[in-house]
Amino acid sequence: MKKLVVLGGGESGVGTAILAKEKDYQVFVSDFGAIKQQYKEELNKLAILFEENKHTEELILDADIIVKSPGIPDKAPIIKKAKEKQLKIIGEIEFAYLYSKSKIIGITGSNGKTTTTLLMHHILQQSGVKAAMGGNVGKSYARIIAEGLDFDWTVLELSSFQLDSIETFSPDIAMILNITKDHLDRYEYKIENYIQSKFLITKNLKEGQCFLYNTHNEATVDYLNRHDSLKKYAIGVDQNDFMDGKFILPNSNFEFDMSNSSLRGIHNYFNAYCAALAAYKTGLVTEKQIQEALNSFVNAPHRLEKVAIYNGIEFVNDSKATNVDSVYYALQSMTKPTILILGGVDKGNDYNEILDFVQSKVKAIVAMGTDNSPILNYFPEKGIHTISTNSLDEAINESIKLAKSGDVVLLSPACASFDLFNNYEDRGDQFRTKILTLTKSN
Ligand code: ADP
Repeated sequence: MKKLVVLGGGESGVGTAILAKEKDYQVFVSDFGAIKQQYKEELNKLAILFEENKHTEELILDADIIVKSPGIPDKAPIIKKAKEKQLKIIGEIEFAYLYSKSKIIGITGSNGKTTTTLLMHHILQQSGVKAAMGGNVGKSYARIIAEGLDFDWTVLELSSFQLDSIETFSPDIAMILNITKDHLDRYEYKIENYIQSKFLITKNLKEGQCFLYNTHNEATVDYLNRHDSLKKYAIGVDQNDFMDGKFILPNSNFEFDMSNSSLRGIHNYFNAYCAALAAYKTGLVTEKQIQEALNSFVNAPHRLEKVAIYNGIEFVNDSKATNVDSVYYALQSMTKPTILILGGVDKGNDYNEILDFVQSKVKAIVAMGTDNSPILNYFPEKGIHTISTNSLDEAINESIKLAKSGDVVLLSPACASFDLFNNYEDRGDQFRTKILTLTKSN
């Protein structure tokens, strides 16, 4: 029996452990941190051995193969040691792919992955195609396969960390929605490394496969211009073609219309186009079915989510906007005067990128964080009314004072949330709860 060690006991690691056990490996899971109770119970039920809060080197380095979870960087000491011993190390996506039976749609990008993945899956499912969905959202890819859910198509959201450790993985339809600065800490602060990592999704493309990319995205187009061999698979999509929310797919004359969809903004119309085109390319779905699915789709929370109207002021939760680019698109989609709640843990943000929209659409900025200096050092000197707050309660109170009926209060922070919240979901949930409490007490 071959020995397989899984590093990391989260969704990815536990999915791998279950799949590996099914495939008759002797499995051991090791996590340097704590493993969640639900996962420990699953492992116990399947009699899979595990350890938490430590890595026992003798056990790990005795493996025939190590499957690492995407959160573990190559510079982690245990990975370095395994490499010194020349052990085989692969990522979860690669391991799962070895057992995959379905066709695959792989979706990556700095922003829009989850929205596009959920929409893609919704279109296929609503049209009667047997499709699974997961990866960086929901079930891990390994779990999908372990549970036998990879029927006709599998839609995978893929982060750059997941792509970093692929070898032969090759989606039938790949998408790079956009590449903008994010997670640079993991890439030696070099955008080139991050771009390279995103493009790994195209690494093994072969005849009959294709990849959709955004012709409006500089980093993507630059890379493509330097890699001629990729061009034969590439299908360019210009996101600016969707300003009015209407589009026609190649080789079709059906006009799609986003006016009955809950998705708003050019960025979301672009996501919708990519999902519609990929669905159409499967050959299993009609234009009419796609349009119906676009109309009935409800996005995951925290992405330009309309929360409520209070005293005529609309409150929008875009807590998932953890970088400047997503705030850019949030502001682009605003049609009413906006109070923007911004701030948290700054990842070296360049606010020049949103200055034009802030100047034309934003009445005031409410900075919310334990250290608001990056915001206070930038916006006031550009003539933008900016208020500093250190809690969500304070930020909401100040926003309400600044807004009048017909305005929007938009929580779109451009920052990580760890200074005041557990994560972006916690930030968005607290925002929603507080606003709904206000509306009920009114
Ligand atoms: P991801 O999974 O890549 O983080 P999400 O779909 O969760 O993407 O959206 C994250 C944030 O990015 C949200 O604030 C959303 O409004 C914004 N966003 C969604 N699609 C795009 C896009 N195509 N370009 C830029 N920003 C986008």
